[in-house]
Amino acid sequence: MGAPKKKPTRMKRDQRRAHFKATVPNLIECPHCHELIPSHTVCPNCGWYGGEEKIKIEKEEKG
Ligand SMILES: [Zn+2]
Repeated sequence: MGAPKKKPTRMKRDQRRAHFKATVPNLIECPHCHELIPSHTVCPNCGWYGGEEKIKIEKEEKG
């Protein structure tokens, strides 16, 4: 592997990092329990996706 000859300057380093930004999660409301969940995911709260229960969620109260 080729090794870089020089340490990147602060400017070059920061210019590179200017392109990576946090992506905003596309939050939707679960149609079943109305929790805010990322779209196209099985709801972690109730386990529903696409109008049916895909995974069983063990109901445990915290605290
Ligand atoms: Zn849900």
